Amino acid sequence: MRAECREASTLIHPDPEHVLSFDREGRLYTFYDAGTLYKRALDSTLHWRRRKPGGPRERGVLDAGAALEVFARVHAYARRAAGELEADCAARVRSEILPWTPERLSGERERFEAVYRPIAILPPDQYFSIVVQATEGCTWNKCTFCSFYQGRPFHARSADELRAHAGAVREFLGRQLLLRRGVFLADGNALALSRARLLPIFEAVREVFPDRKIYGFVDLYSGERHDPADWGELAGMGLERVYVGMETGLDELLAFLNKPGSADELVTFTRQLKAAGVSVGLIVMVGVGGREYRVNHARATLAALARMPLDRRDLVYLSPFVEHPGSVYARERSAAGLTPMDWEEIESETARLAGEVRRLGVRAARYDIREFIY
Ligand code: SF4
Repeated sequence: MRAECREASTLIHPDPEHVLSFDREGRLYTFYDAGTLYKRALDSTLHWRRRKPGGPRERGVLDAGAALEVFARVHAYARRAAGELEADCAARVRSEILPWTPERLSGERERFEAVYRPIAILPPDQYFSIVVQATEGCTWNKCTFCSFYQGRPFHARSADELRAHAGAVREFLGRQLLLRRGVFLADGNALALSRARLLPIFEAVREVFPDRKIYGFVDLYSGERHDPADWGELAGMGLERVYVGMETGLDELLAFLNKPGSADELVTFTRQLKAAGVSVGLIVMVGVGGREYRVNHARATLAALARMPLDRRDLVYLSPFVEHPGSVYARERSAAGLTPMDWEEIESETARLAGEVRRLGVRAARYDIREFIY
């Protein structure tokens, strides 16, 4: 039995096949269990992932009963660690980790739900951020492929509500804040709010979480309504990066997805952001529009990216497209006679496009929305 008692986390290695990590509140964070990796979300939902040799990656979420069984195994490892580790680490395990019985850990769901409304999605580099929900839902909510905020009308918090919410988030995360970096201003379109509403929100965030960089989504049609000077002001208040669902650089396909905007408008908008000192994260969907659009979608997207002043601070996410059965997109794609790309085609196109984006001198990463966890 080995352990690493770090400033921000505790790692326990009972044997080469198992590794457990905990935040400084003592709550389970990850559990590597002989080829399966479990990750606990803040609401104690337990996500698992494994890859059989030579096979595809498998993933899923345990039901509450199965999660409780895994928490019980984790607790048994922690009890063993408390008896076997050297004094300092054993004391930490006893004081921080052992109080989290499986039932108490499962109960984090109620605490989470008292603080947060459902969080639908984050960019992958923001899974380690502190999510503060300035808004709920999306101002547009009409893209045919998107189910993130269906049935949730857009609602914005006032600065006072936001301050109270951010305080509750700080209390809930406790010393897990040591593991987390910036603040992500959720939900889908928080930066769509007017300057007059955003400035007090940024002030409230900075009061509760001083010195943390701030990130958020905005969609092109909302983003470009801001005066370009607003972005410089927000950058001065900590705004570090803005994530935009580009989806495609092909205007015809964007219109088919019922998403407003165009490649030209996005190029102009990214220039405004970059001129204001804000970096960008652009999300491109790979496989959307099916086989018939594959070549033109890729070509137009790469051409649009090449016209943007992107550098090493920026990110292009390539997101393998997941078609939701029953969605408006599925119905319209079928009516238009478009053939879905299969998973292997999408994966190989994702890898190809990542290489092309990197050739532009921009960082590219895969964004699998099914792996989202907070
Ligand atoms: S703008 Fe973004 S969050 Fe809103 S509906 Fe479209 S894809 Fe979904």
